[in-house]
Amino acid sequence: MSTVRSNILKIKERIRRAAERAGRNRDEIELVAVSKRVSAEKIVEAAESGHLLFGENYLQEARDKFSAPPLHSLVNLKLHFIGHLQTNKAKEAIRLFQVIETVDRLKLALTLEKHLAGTEKKQDIFIQINIGREAQKSGILPEDAPKLLSRIQECSHLNIRGLMTIPPFNQDPEAGRPYFRAMKKLSQTLVQQDLLDKDGSAGLSMGMSNDFEVAIEEGSTLIRVGTAIFGQRI
Ligand SMILES: *Cc1c(COP(=O)(O)O)cnc(C)c1O
Repeated sequence: MSTVRSNILKIKERIRRAAERAGRNRDEIELVAVSKRVSAEKIVEAAESGHLLFGENYLQEARDKFSAPPLHSLVNLKLHFIGHLQTNKAKEAIRLFQVIETVDRLKLALTLEKHLAGTEKKQDIFIQINIGREAQKSGILPEDAPKLLSRIQECSHLNIRGLMTIPPFNQDPEAGRPYFRAMKKLSQTLVQQDLLDKDGSAGLSMGMSNDFEVAIEEGSTLIRVGTAIFGQRI
């Protein structure tokens, strides 16, 4: 069995156990395999073992990898954009990605909406929250989320699937717990304010290789895992 395949199986087992500990249904949790700076060969290994959901941080890298052989011929691939998105790349992001997880400002939302206007397409997005209030991180501050969400609700081509966050980095998985908990609380508040969960699915994209189990215990519905699947990035 390939390493990638056995890693994916191990992660899935850990997802199942974390969900069980939290009394949650395992099917509520999606696994995005983060393939930034990962070779096409390894991505093919993941696809061949049945995993078709990937996350990428860089637009050009994603385009170069997924539109060339051998990845260009894979069918039913789903790509999530998880990097910082500049407004001048919004149009291409719509073309390449089923889900854009990093919408964190009105200007970006309005630019996406403008490019989608007149089309049938509804773009799935997440709103990125800077839950750790880190100066160098993207994401909107929690207290600014209600205003942004109410404006984005007016964008008829954008479908808000939930909130996304990258908490402050820490080796200790437990360090993420208070941030994950704060995200869950923020999400619940926004649902109460009728700003989230229009279609009954207020998602929470949180948890990476070193802390996804803690994130699941605190309510994550989508984890983004790179190194634990593909190994250390070069
Ligand atoms: C790189 C990255 C990940 C994956 O990180 P790992 O620690 O390798 O699992 C997840 N989310 C985002 C936004 C990333 O940039």
